[in-house]
Amino acid sequence: MSLPASPPSDSAGHEAARLAFGDLCQRAARHALHIDGRWVTGRSDRPITTRNPATGEALVTLGAASQADIDDAVRAARRALTEGPWSRMPAAERAACLHRLADLLEAHRDELALIECLDGGNPMRSLRGFDVPHAVATTRDHAGWAGKLSGEVPLAPLAGAGFAYTMREPVGVVAAITPWNAALLMAVRKLTSALAAGCTCVLKPAELAPLSTLRLVELCEQAGLPPGVVNLVPGHGDEAGRALSHHPDVNLVTFTGSTRVGREILAASGASNLKRMVLELGGKSPVVVLRDADLERAATAVVQEIAFKSGQYCAAGTRLIVEQAVYDDFNALLLQQLKALRVGDGLREDVDLGPLISQPQRERVHGYVAQGIAAGAELLLDGRDAPGPGYFFRPTLFGRARGDMAIVRDEIFGPVLSAMPVAGDDIVQAAAALANDSSYGLAAKVWSRDLARVHRLVRQLQAGSVIVNGGGGEGPLPTGGYKQSGFGRETGHEGMLAFTELKTVRIGY
Ligand code: NAP
Ligand code: MG
Repeated sequence: MSLPASPPSDSAGHEAARLAFGDLCQRAARHALHIDGRWVTGRSDRPITTRNPATGEALVTLGAASQADIDDAVRAARRALTEGPWSRMPAAERAACLHRLADLLEAHRDELALIECLDGGNPMRSLRGFDVPHAVATTRDHAGWAGKLSGEVPLAPLAGAGFAYTMREPVGVVAAITPWNAALLMAVRKLTSALAAGCTCVLKPAELAPLSTLRLVELCEQAGLPPGVVNLVPGHGDEAGRALSHHPDVNLVTFTGSTRVGREILAASGASNLKRMVLELGGKSPVVVLRDADLERAATAVVQEIAFKSGQYCAAGTRLIVEQAVYDDFNALLLQQLKALRVGDGLREDVDLGPLISQPQRERVHGYVAQGIAAGAELLLDGRDAPGPGYFFRPTLFGRARGDMAIVRDEIFGPVLSAMPVAGDDIVQAAAALANDSSYGLAAKVWSRDLARVHRLVRQLQAGSVIVNGGGGEGPLPTGGYKQSGFGRETGHEGMLAFTELKTVRIGY
């Protein structure tokens, strides 16, 4: 991925965003839940303290949602769906609400970037250049779908009188459970597609970075969304998240997070009301680099992607499968660029890599590097020496990695790359076999200028998205995974259809 240069913020705008952040923390400390149009305090006996990962300092402690709060939120969402103005509102008005929300997100872009930077650790530069503009664009795109989700009228039956058609209806009450790594963007993707389809929503942000979702819900209020249409229940996964996924009156859970929790949510659906689900889970995406590739561009893309969110990015290409003939050259290019990356507090404009989200995450990444060394991989760049007190980790590169090593099999969620040479008479088949040797199938990247090889690889790779030579095109396309990276798609036409039920109607005359 390549980040467009972010427009520098003027210092007055930055100061205003800082003041706004202080106010947001004060409001969150008082009442962080939004249920049926009212701000209330969570009733869990375990409050949540969210921290700034760049310093470790506590930002705010907020009351978390309890089972009773979840029941209230789902009840409010159901009432807003069946009784409230939302379900009767013309689609054009729903779209207008979403466009107003997009305008507000855009108007508050500095503030939203700062919230995400302080609460989630991402560099301001990448938040301004990627997350916030994508949140705005996604909201506008979804607004455009309101009223455009239609059924079909098949050819008239040849025999018998009558008529038949299919129609689409909102799936109902949607619970959106989101991760911390791109908290705002994930919440926006789920919320705005559910709303465009005519659903109502209960949002459960991750406890490690809930503040941008809180601000999002305030902006929803300002955009004129009626009470009960958007409810917010920050809380613990094993309390609020579990209550939502087991709830008998939730029609669909849209979840982005780990494969482990995805399994739990799937089981909860089976144990409760067979609620529908969209599961966007983990990944361990391969990057196939063939000898005819533009190596410089490929190396730059790999480095940018691992810098983006310090590797805490589900589709990051971390398994590098490099044709033997260019393996050493490619590693040399990578090393040169990785060493030049600047690690530090994402508030600074010159920082490429922010901190990891938490101390346990930092320890986890340390553990994987130790495992890689013990398993015999070649440590070409060791990033373990980053100083604290923030949860920093420098870029790390392993060479001569093998498919049976934990560093290659597991999603590390840190800035750790593993390179593997590949050779063979049929290089496409050899590379695809290595790339597909994974329980995940979220994304795969290909670098080659040989069209025939590219097309063969695209066909053979088991991944929900295949990105060739850095990718092209524009606009939100469906994203999602093969294998244990989940099922269902988000954004694009398929992503919208996920929030609908299909009804078949046969009318006899
Ligand atoms: P996570 O631990 O699975 O948590 C995700 C969300 O689920 C959080 O809100 C969490 O709550 C909640 N949760 C935890 N246990 C739950 C339970 N038993 N029932 C219901 N909800 C529960 O994931 P994460 O560490 O936040 O995020 C990292 C993961 O997200 C990675 O695996 C990454 O690949 C994946 N991800 C995937 C995509 C994609 O598009 N495929 C995009 C981004 C991230 P608390 O954290 O508040 O306890
Ligand atoms: Mg935080």
